[in-house]
Amino acid sequence: MTEKLYYLDSHLREFTAVVRSCEEQKGGWAVTLDRTAFFPEGGGQPADTGTIGDARVLDVHEKNGRILHSVDRPLTAGESYPCALDWEQRLRRMQNHSGEHVVSGLIYREHGFDNVGFHMGADCMTMDYSGELSWEELMRIEQLANETVRADLPLHIWFPEGEELARLIYRSKLDLTENVRIVEIPGVDRCACCAPHVDRTGEVGLIKILTAERHRGGVRITALCGMDAVEEARRRQESVTAISGLLSVKRDQVVPAVERQLEQQARQKERVAQLGLELARLRAESMAPTEGNLAVFDSVLDEPALRELVNLLMDKCAVAAAFSGSDSEGWRYIIGSRTVDLRAKARALNAGIGGRGGGSPEMIQGRAGFDAETIRVFLRDWRP
Ligand SMILES: [Zn+2]
Repeated sequence: MTEKLYYLDSHLREFTAVVRSCEEQKGGWAVTLDRTAFFPEGGGQPADTGTIGDARVLDVHEKNGRILHSVDRPLTAGESYPCALDWEQRLRRMQNHSGEHVVSGLIYREHGFDNVGFHMGADCMTMDYSGELSWEELMRIEQLANETVRADLPLHIWFPEGEELARLIYRSKLDLTENVRIVEIPGVDRCACCAPHVDRTGEVGLIKILTAERHRGGVRITALCGMDAVEEARRRQESVTAISGLLSVKRDQVVPAVERQLEQQARQKERVAQLGLELARLRAESMAPTEGNLAVFDSVLDEPALRELVNLLMDKCAVAAAFSGSDSEGWRYIIGSRTVDLRAKARALNAGIGGRGGGSPEMIQGRAGFDAETIRVFLRDWRP
């Protein structure tokens, strides 16, 4: 059995250990030590990384009571090596995980809901709870959580047995009967957990709930704690500062400023649409009636304007065609007629303009691939 140093001292970041075995495995070597501070994946917390001698520890997992360190080069069995954890990473994970216990313990204490899912991802933690909580209720939990940090409570971690274990009330996702490790935060939480934790709640630092959404009859939240939360707050602050600069408003005024921008945009859209229709009418008026076909090419008209233009031109000719776009990007078209069954003639028409599209007997629409001049000549001579 490997001595689990991470249970004796969660803040041990450097130690020496004797290599017990080193076996080649896919993509490297698997090493066992006489003692280790490398925590194998468990309780939702990923495995530690670091170094054993010159070898990089890429992954650690426990298999049949053996703690296997996956390393990138072979080590000599029987020899003693200096070992070092990637400490910043481990500390951040402990801040997040202990913070999760604080939040889950408070949600259980205040609302009676269980933590039914926990994932420590690369960007944030995801936690699921068995009942619905409003954002206001979650912000109250966040407040209590940060007050728990300020109280700097000592964590009590032990392996109760027999009578004591039987009597103890604690949160647990599994029905464990032996080797139950209890992580207690006095007055806040008591939970079965196998992961290393901070010594005192003050070490967790900032606890920040980021998002909440309904999930399977309960709530799914994302959160960050400690330095990860501080960095996230910094990124968000920089975003808001950048937006306030772009909008030339104070930082606390960005929301009403964006709302104003969106309203303005909506009004302008409406105005552009009206102008498009007006332009379509003027263009239709300027065209002389003919027994043949009429074709209009335009770079700015949107679909409602094109449709209006075709509707007006249909009274002035056999086949009325309006195109929007350019030779380089292609043309969107709407073509209408009061006398020709366009649906029946769509194949011939599309062939003549390099197009694809269809519609009703009175009106078809689609895209044309030929250049404006070729299309113009085709429509001028087309007698369906
Ligand atoms: Zn835990």
